[in-house]
This record gives sequence, C-alpha cells and structure tokens, in this order.
Amino acid sequence: MTALSDEIKSIIAASGPMSFERFMELALAHPEQGYYMNRDPFGAAGDFTTAPEISQMFGELVGLWSAEVWREMGSPNPLRLIELGPGRGTLMSDALRAARLVPEFRDALDVTLVETSPKLAQIQYEALAGCGVGVAWLPTISEAPPGPAIVIANEFLDALPVRQYVHSNGRWRERVVKVNAEGELAFGVSGDYEPYILAPGEEGDILEVNPASHRLMFELAARMAKQGGVELFVDYGHSVTGVGDTLQALRNHRYVSPLSEPGEADITAHVDFSAMARSARAAGAAVYGPIDQGDFLTALGIDARTHALCERSPARAEEFEDARRRLVGKSAGEMGALFKAMAVASRMAPTPPGFETR
Ligand code: SAH
Repeated sequence: MTALSDEIKSIIAASGPMSFERFMELALAHPEQGYYMNRDPFGAAGDFTTAPEISQMFGELVGLWSAEVWREMGSPNPLRLIELGPGRGTLMSDALRAARLVPEFRDALDVTLVETSPKLAQIQYEALAGCGVGVAWLPTISEAPPGPAIVIANEFLDALPVRQYVHSNGRWRERVVKVNAEGELAFGVSGDYEPYILAPGEEGDILEVNPASHRLMFELAARMAKQGGVELFVDYGHSVTGVGDTLQALRNHRYVSPLSEPGEADITAHVDFSAMARSARAAGAAVYGPIDQGDFLTALGIDARTHALCERSPARAEEFEDARRRLVGKSAGEMGALFKAMAVASRMAPTPPGFETR
C-alpha cells in the first residue's frame, strides 16, 4: 500500500476502472507521487542499474559516435544534442568528456535534456555543472530548439506507459485496473471490445501497444525529415512483434507485482522495436537495426577502449573487463543481446556508424 494506491482507488471509486495505460502513467509520472518524481532509482542502493551506470565506456562511446554522426551530417553548427530521460546525467557527462577529442564538435554543441522529474533534473544539473557546454532542460521534446539534431535515448522508451488488450470472450478488450472485493487494486477487463484489432488470439492472450512511443516516433521522424538528424534508441525489447505481457515491476532489484506498489516500484515494458520502426518509416524516416547492444558497442570500439583504460589504471583492470563483459556479453544476466540499438535518421543521411553491416 502506498499513498498513490489510495489516490488511484479513489479515482476508480469515483469514475470506474481505469486503463492500465493510465495506471502506469500515474505510477511513474504522477506530479507528486510518481516513481521518477522524487527519487534517484539507480545503482546498487536503488531499484535497477543501466548501461551508463555500469561503466563510463558506454557514454564515452556514444559521445564519439555522436561526433562521427555530426561529421557525416556535414558538421552543422549549432548541433542540437538532445537526450531523452537522462537519469543521473551520467551518459551525457561521459559523452561530453570523450567529445574533448573532437573540439570542433564540442564547440558546435548545444545540449538539451528532456526530463519530467525535478529530482532527476537536479541530479543531472549537478553532474553537468562543470562540463563546459551549454545545457538546457525541458519537460518535452516538442519544445526543443529547431535545427539539425542528434537524439539519444537509453532506457527511455521502456518507461513510457503501455496499453494492453486481453482476448476475452472472443474479443480484444482493454486491460483495466479495478478495486476487487478485498479492496485491493486488481487487473480486470473492459466490458467494451475493440473491433478494429484484427490479430487472432486465444482466450487470455495479451496484446501490448505503446501509443506514447508511437507519438514520439512520429514527432521525431517529422523533425528529422525537416531539419535533419539522427536518433539513437537503446533499450531492452524484442525485434519481432508478438503476443504477450512484458510488464516488469522492480523494487530494490526484486520483481514485484505491477499493481502492488504504485509510485514505489519501477514499471517497464519491453520495447517493440518492429512497431517503432514501422511508425518511423511511415513518418518518412530511414531505420537502421535494431542490432544487439553487444554488436553495436563492439563496432564502436569497446574492446580498444577497455584495453586503453586497463593500461592507464592497471589496478582497475578487472573492473573494466567485468563492465565490458556485462555490456556486450550475450549470456543470461548480461546485456549484450537483451538490449538492442536502433537508429532513425532522415532519408538523406548516410548509414550511422555501427549499423553499416546489418
Ligand atoms: N537514460 C538513463 C535513465 C533511464 S530511466 C540511464 O540510462 O541511466 C528513465 C528516465 O526517463 C528517467 O530519467 C525518467 O525520469 C525519465 N522519464 C520517464 N518518462 C519520461 C517522459 N515522459 N518524459 C521525459 N522523461 C521521462
């Protein structure tokens, strides 16, 4: 039980069961009690760990990737470097440090961080205080300044609210959250059905869609088509659309029920990369990948970077080697195959680095 579950129950008491999509939005982004609004969820003491928090190499390689993309774009000045959902600001801080190797790129940069959480924006502000590049914060990408852009989003799409449909009594019906006889939040199924969903299903099958990420894809693809640019999405998910419930709720690195602790547990869903790619193409953009994170980081030179760091700090060699393995390895518990990288670009742009051979 959380303060937010009480509030959700009173909304349901007043206006009936709410869609799971709305529940997830409230659980993560309620202005006062949403999960991201008032905490730092990352790291050993938090609920989960992300690639930039595992190793500085992730942000450094993304920074150098951005510099190369910028050159291929014809070195525009200014270049809007936009990050969606920057967490602790670690990726951007590592990227800007690595970008010192390409001073003309750094000089052209104008950084925008898109963040809804005031608490995380504050942490990002502190992380980037001495970075030497102008940084601005915005709550949505729509307000970002116009012009050629590189957009980076690591583990951002998985935090956008998903809508679920359940195949029930021969029809697809929206999955809702209700209050059960014991007074607890529980899953239910809407009485109305969705006649336009044509996918065949069996009783109990679940279909997920992510309207917010489709809207984002359309908005970004339109921007790229007009102003030029490249977007990089790295996330966990699947490359083929399928039926199934992919919700995960994490608290203190443990799985909990998605409904049990709204506002206290992180809730995510797998990113359906093929659906994202369809939206981006429909909006006129070119799509590259998705490819495995491990292959992407290897193409970007993570082996050489690990080697260089080990040479410079031999005492930390084991730490760097462990981090490399966690990021690129494809065994259980490693991120290399579970996470994918996908790039979306204007049709005029050449293939972004790292995606050439696929
Ligand atoms: N990219 C970071 C953090 C990933 S967690 C990393 O890899 O470590 C998701 C991030 O997205 C958090 O910063 C969260 O506050 C932010 N976020 C979630 N929903 C958002 C939205 N709709 N708009 C902007 N930021 C959002």
